[in-house]
Amino acid sequence: MSSTSHPNRSPVFRFITIAASGMGSFVLGLWGMKFGFGDGLGGLSVQMIGAVVASLCALAAGGAALSFFAGVDESASYVFKETQIDKLTGLAGRTAMIGLIAEAASGCTRTGEPVYLIDIDIDRFKQINDSIGYTQGDQLIAAFAERLKRSLPEGVQIGRIGAGEFAILHPDPGGEFSIEEAVEQLIERLMEPYQLRTHLQSVNLSVGIVAIPKDGHDPILLLRRSNLALQHARATRLGSWSVYLPEMGQVADYRQWVESELHIAFERGDFDLHYQPQLDLTSGRVVGYEALIRWKHPARGMIPPMEFIPIAEETGMIGLLGEWVLKKACADARYLPDDCFVAVNISPVQFMTKDFLGIVRRALETTGIRPQRLELEVTETAMMQDRDHAAVILKALSEMGISVAVDDFGTGYSNLSYLIDFPFQKLKIDRSFVSRIDTDQNTGAVVSTIVGLSRALGVHTIAEGVETENQATLLRAAGCEVVQGYFYGKPAPLQIHNGAVAPVRMVH
Ligand code: C2E
Ligand code: CA
Ligand code: CA
Repeated sequence: MSSTSHPNRSPVFRFITIAASGMGSFVLGLWGMKFGFGDGLGGLSVQMIGAVVASLCALAAGGAALSFFAGVDESASYVFKETQIDKLTGLAGRTAMIGLIAEAASGCTRTGEPVYLIDIDIDRFKQINDSIGYTQGDQLIAAFAERLKRSLPEGVQIGRIGAGEFAILHPDPGGEFSIEEAVEQLIERLMEPYQLRTHLQSVNLSVGIVAIPKDGHDPILLLRRSNLALQHARATRLGSWSVYLPEMGQVADYRQWVESELHIAFERGDFDLHYQPQLDLTSGRVVGYEALIRWKHPARGMIPPMEFIPIAEETGMIGLLGEWVLKKACADARYLPDDCFVAVNISPVQFMTKDFLGIVRRALETTGIRPQRLELEVTETAMMQDRDHAAVILKALSEMGISVAVDDFGTGYSNLSYLIDFPFQKLKIDRSFVSRIDTDQNTGAVVSTIVGLSRALGVHTIAEGVETENQATLLRAAGCEVVQGYFYGKPAPLQIHNGAVAPVRMVH
């Protein structure tokens, strides 16, 4: 509680002041009339003195009342500041924002001018906060809010409505400029890294947009809808923003179902791993297998990882699931040829947990596989959350003899300087490049450049999502070493016959 905002006079204090001064004047009046003045004072009659004393009483009571009501105002503004304004950022808090949305909605109805409610959430803020500590987490929020204020036109209302969540009431930008363009520019600025005390912190954002009055008037409903659009943006990963559509309500129900079902499914043993081969492009030999999680629900059938992994990440369930994947993949490696490694996907949330190295170590110890037979696929996003922490983990993994592949390479962070700082062994060229390599000349040039870059760094390259012979030929020409994709083999369950090693099903 700051000393400047605290009211000096509380209502109780004011009440006592009024009562005391009123009573005091009254008693003084009575006493004066009865004993003090006898037959009069200085020629004034007793009635006159009584009138003067009564006026004084009224004045004292009036003054005290004034002081009381001024104090009520002061207290009210204090309470407003305490409850409505977010202390860390100075922005409107959630309750105040609801009021501002209601005002904006009634303003829209009067003027006919639309206003947009934009919901911005820092992805996995809770995990970031846990890993960098609350002081730096606060620093990040304060810096984020400051940049948000500076990036928006004067008068745009902004509120902090959750730990890492902000709401904006944005007027129609007008002219040729659309609200989507305005939001894209805003996201770009907000996603530039933040300088904290100990490191540069990157953030990913998800954004949902609703139009007022088109998508509703009620502030709570509008906030729910902007959040649905935000969840949609996060789940589809098509971009970091979405405009609200009525169908999103059903998606939210499904999401809630997945969230509630994940634990039960885990206990029930619904999960399994499928393996997809990775081949050396020159010799055609299988060198490793990527483990891909599969969820077979007894009633709903197969549920794709892209539908439940992001939810497991948000709810923290990924910790349990990820550890299970790691252990099972290491255990399964016993059934794979001895000269093959097993590649395991590591979620950014998992990668940043405190005991990540311990979990990896225990998985190796309990299954007894050599560290050289384990490869971890980690995305750029995971490494960029906290570069210093990531560097420590990568160094430790490398010292343990475990190989790390940068997954989905080329789709995430654009500043490549991290490649020099981080120890890793492989770049995995994302499927989006491979699928265009035979139709788009520029993509071919990008792939060749990535291969050149990896050679300069002394690391290997693997291309994922190879579906045609033509793509394979172009990848070979570009100098890519290892390939993976439907053309060579789809992900399939391990087939163990009589305890003997059985290769996974191969298409080619
Ligand atoms: P990813 O790591 O990029 O995995 C490759 C995805 O592409 C897999 O999808 C795979 O089945 C698919 N794929 C492989 N070859 C081809 C191809 O030639 N064409 C096409 N169109 N697709 C191909 P899947 O199994 O649905 O997994 C999707 C994503 O889910 C993975 O993308 C990964 O990010 C995540 N994921 C899967 N298993 C795990 C896991 O055990 N842990 C974690 N944290 N994430 C996982
Ligand atoms: Ca992968
Ligand atoms: Ca990928």
